[in-house]
Amino acid sequence: MQIKKTAIILIVSLDALCIFAQTNKAAVASRPKYHEVEVKGIAGFQDTPMEPNGFWHVHDPARPQSEVVAPGAFSAMATPPSDATVLFDGKDLSQWMDSQGNPAPWLIQEGAAITTKGDIFTRQNFGDIQMHLEFREPLPAAGKGQHRGNSGIFFMGRYEIQVLDCFENQTYPDGATGAIYAQHPPLANACRPPGEWQTYDIVFTAPRFGGHGEVITPAYATVILNGVVVQNHQAFRGTTTHCAVGDYTPHEATGPIGLQYHLNAVAFRNIWVRPIPMVTEP
Ligand code: MG
Repeated sequence: MQIKKTAIILIVSLDALCIFAQTNKAAVASRPKYHEVEVKGIAGFQDTPMEPNGFWHVHDPARPQSEVVAPGAFSAMATPPSDATVLFDGKDLSQWMDSQGNPAPWLIQEGAAITTKGDIFTRQNFGDIQMHLEFREPLPAAGKGQHRGNSGIFFMGRYEIQVLDCFENQTYPDGATGAIYAQHPPLANACRPPGEWQTYDIVFTAPRFGGHGEVITPAYATVILNGVVVQNHQAFRGTTTHCAVGDYTPHEATGPIGLQYHLNAVAFRNIWVRPIPMVTEP
């Protein structure tokens, strides 16, 4: 599917759009201005909309941090099942494109794809899927909070599971590694140190919309980071957007998977997905 820039503006999380906004002053001007604050050394926001739980602002740095859990060995270098679509096998990015439909501009070094220049998107569209993906954060670690090893996985181009280096690096919890960005903090901080390969095994369920665009069922994600469940069939409140609670805009039943370039050189390898058949029986 050819993706046009105008479409990306609408569908990609603002966490990604910060890059685009640098070259689009009109987009910046139309965005509410929130003021970054620091609480106990953690940067975030306390003038953003309240989360529906009524306790915390979106990106509230005072929200409790997830418990640190040292991960064990899990699915590193998991070989794809026979029915999987391999999206990156270490050799080329032919399954990916930039936001204009051009070849993906990321670098390939020693079997890994390194983020650079801009977000990339799968040429194929997907709905309900099982995904395996591995990532490695830059060593030595540089930057703090959201500025350390930031990337992200965007299901259907709009529902982000955060990729970040949260090893001994605290940030606002709804933006930590394994967060449903701006919505649900991870249930644990299971990050490995920078420089080590980490695994994501994710089950994503696409939202269902009715004939009038109403949400019949939301999008869900179950996320296992390095063998630790960090989201358990958690519902998305809608498109994940920087400084916003999130809401739904009706869309097609399938969409591209996006990987974010957020100014940090994050490495990816061994990415494959399996479409999941939909069960309609009770
Ligand atoms: Mg991100």
